[in-house]
Amino acid sequence: MMNRYLFTPGPVPVGLEASLASARPMISHRCAAFHELFERVEHGLSTLLRSSGPVVIFPSSGTGALEALGANFSRPGTKALSVSCGAFGDRFREIFARFGATMANVDVPYGEGVTPEVVASAVERERPDVVLLTMNETSTGVLNPIKEIMEALPKDHPLVLVDGVSGIGTMPFFPEEWGVDGLATASQKGLLVPPGLGLVWLSPRAWERASAERASSYYFDLALQRKHMKEGAPENPYTPPVSLYHALDASLAEILAEPEWFALRARAARAFAAGLEALGYEMLVRDARFRSHGVTAFSLPGGDVADVVRKLRAMGVEPAGGQGPLKGKIIRMSHYHDVRWPELSMMLGALYAAKGSSSGDFMRAALDAWEGRIDG
Ligand code: PMP
Repeated sequence: MMNRYLFTPGPVPVGLEASLASARPMISHRCAAFHELFERVEHGLSTLLRSSGPVVIFPSSGTGALEALGANFSRPGTKALSVSCGAFGDRFREIFARFGATMANVDVPYGEGVTPEVVASAVERERPDVVLLTMNETSTGVLNPIKEIMEALPKDHPLVLVDGVSGIGTMPFFPEEWGVDGLATASQKGLLVPPGLGLVWLSPRAWERASAERASSYYFDLALQRKHMKEGAPENPYTPPVSLYHALDASLAEILAEPEWFALRARAARAFAAGLEALGYEMLVRDARFRSHGVTAFSLPGGDVADVVRKLRAMGVEPAGGQGPLKGKIIRMSHYHDVRWPELSMMLGALYAAKGSSSGDFMRAALDAWEGRIDG
């Protein structure tokens, strides 16, 4: 098979340790070795999120984790406020609508971020029971300021549920400290594991609410999951994908062992953006404060995006295109994994060749940004 360099915003390249771990011999999911593995994974997730309380792990993709939030927090009579800035915010909204909630929808234009003011004023106006937000909108490469949004809400705010599918592991997110009530994520992006795990964290009051009324799905019943997660011997109500737990365990150990992990991801994103702009590509997210550190979306003014994508693929570089209204208009490339200068040079070099650029100054621009202060 031709060597392909994977830069899609999920799945992302899986490191050697996680790959090897997932090849370990199979064990029963009702034995002490699995309890220990599950405990280690829970400990790693609590450390990453700086939060107490269990993280429920479903054998599903990220959509399954969103579905779990829907099955437990949306029912006829629920009023949900959805603030969406892209295709995945729209999906979260659709899931809540299907489980019966009455929706109040706020749409932020694609490429723009959700500001604290927009959410705070919509909460005041709509007085919802639940607020649906997206941490990292993968369809546009927007990172929303969830911490600042939480600070702008009143103390007795409604339940705030966040789609963190494409943000957790790459950018700081501390739901307990920030006052978030529910978080959904998945294995195949910032957690650097193959696809197949959907994860959900809840605040104590969200757990209370989830336990008070029966979920409308058995498979995605959060209270049922929690009942099986006994301290010291956590289990699942049905068969978990054991190999992926091994991979997550190994990947969390690697992420947590690098104290500069989040700063490195931010640095790679900044340097990639600087190189792209110097090459003549245009960032979809104009305001740099809202740019994701995991995925970058860009267009080529006056150029043929489809042709660039074709040429990248012919070189063995696998990007992603646009979704929905952005189909055929943008390219997205991810940097969730350990992208440093060699990988950046390859990404930018491939884009240089695909565009047929004449100027080589983009390397200087990227290098200047790369060498800038790591936490700048
Ligand atoms: N939400 C966001 C923000 C995502 O990026 C994705 C996947 N691209 C999903 C939800 C859906 O996740 P999955 O494809 O794993 O079901």
